[in-house]
Amino acid sequence: MRAAVLNEVRTPLAIEELTIDEPGAGEALVRIVATGVCHSDLHFIEGTYPARLPTVLGHEVAGVVERLGVGVTNVKPSDRVILGFVQPCGYCDYCQAGRPNLCQTRTTTRGRDNPALKRGDQAVTAMTNVGGFAEYSLTPAAGLLRVPDGVGLDVAALVGCSVMTGYGAVTNTAKVEPGSTVAVIGTGGVGLNIIQAARLSGARQIIAIDLVEHKIALSKDFGATDGVNAGEGDPVQRVKDLTGGGVDYAFEAIGLKQTARQAYDMTRRGGTAVVVGMVPPMDTIDVPGMIWLEEKTLKGSFYGSARFHVDMPRILSLYQQGKLDLDRLVTKRFKLDQINEAFDTLKSGEVARSVLEIGSE
Ligand SMILES: [Zn+2]
Ligand SMILES: [Zn+2]
Repeated sequence: MRAAVLNEVRTPLAIEELTIDEPGAGEALVRIVATGVCHSDLHFIEGTYPARLPTVLGHEVAGVVERLGVGVTNVKPSDRVILGFVQPCGYCDYCQAGRPNLCQTRTTTRGRDNPALKRGDQAVTAMTNVGGFAEYSLTPAAGLLRVPDGVGLDVAALVGCSVMTGYGAVTNTAKVEPGSTVAVIGTGGVGLNIIQAARLSGARQIIAIDLVEHKIALSKDFGATDGVNAGEGDPVQRVKDLTGGGVDYAFEAIGLKQTARQAYDMTRRGGTAVVVGMVPPMDTIDVPGMIWLEEKTLKGSFYGSARFHVDMPRILSLYQQGKLDLDRLVTKRFKLDQINEAFDTLKSGEVARSVLEIGSE
C-alpha cells in the first residue's frame, strides 16, 4: 500500500510502498477514506516532539473496516468508523473512572519485533497505532467508533481529533457554564471547535484571538462575539477591557508557553485557563504565586478529556441536528500525494482544516 513516510525531521514526507500486516487478536484492518492534516502532525515533522523514524503520521482518520482479528466484537467488516488515536483498555482505573483518554494500558502487542508496517524488512512506526497518512491502518479495534449513515467520513475524520479536542475541552475539561465569558487563543481547527462548543454551552461572550484577520472573521461565523488581533497591542489587556476584568475561561489552542501564560493572565479571579495546544515537552509555564489568593485554575486538556463512546456519538448527533458545523471546517481537500502541499497550506494559516481524500467509501 501507499503511505506518506517521514524519514527525517524537517524534510518533506515521501510517498512510498509499504507492507501492512494482517490483523492479529483485537486488531482491525481499516481502509482509510479521509485523514485530516493536523498541527500535531506538524510538531513531529518539525521535531518539536520526538518521533521514532521512519514513521507514518496522521491521527485524524476515518475509514471502512476491511478485516478483523480474533476477539473483536465492537465492529464488523464494512462498518464505517472513526479511528481514535487513543485505544483505551476499558479495565484500568482511568477507564473505569470515566477518563479513558488517560489510559496508559497498551491495547496492542505491536512493537519493533512485530510491526504493523514495514518497508522491506525495516519496521516503520504508525503514529498512535493509527498512521493515517496511508491507504490502510492496522489498529487496535478498541479505538474504533462507528459512524452513522448520512455522516460523511471527511467530517467524521475531524471528529477523531480536532472536533473532539475542542468540544471536549469546553464540555469535559472546563465544564463551561451558561452565561459565562470565554476567550480562545488560536482559531484553527481546534480553536473553532472550542468556539462553537462554548456557544452551545451558553457562553454569553466568546472572544476569538488570532494574528490572522480572516480567521478572526471566520470565528464569528462559529459563534465568537468579539475578535482580538494579537498583533495589535496586548491581547491580555484587550480581553480585560472587553470583559471588565477578565474571562471566566480562557483556552490556549496554539501550543506555546507564552500564549499559555496569556490565557492564565486573561482570566478573572476564580477563572480557569485550559492548555489545549501541544506546548513543547521541555518548556515550563510559570504563573504568579498569587494563584492561591485569586483562586485561579490552570489545567491541561488532552483529547478533550474524551469519554469516547459518550462524546463522539453526541458530537455526530449534534452535527446531524445542525448544532455543530463541521462542514465548513473542511476548507481544502488534497490527495495523498499532495500531502506536502497540504502541510504548506497549514503552515500558511490560510485554512481551518485540510482533509486528505485517500480512498472512496
Ligand atoms: Zn490532531
Ligand atoms: Zn484503560
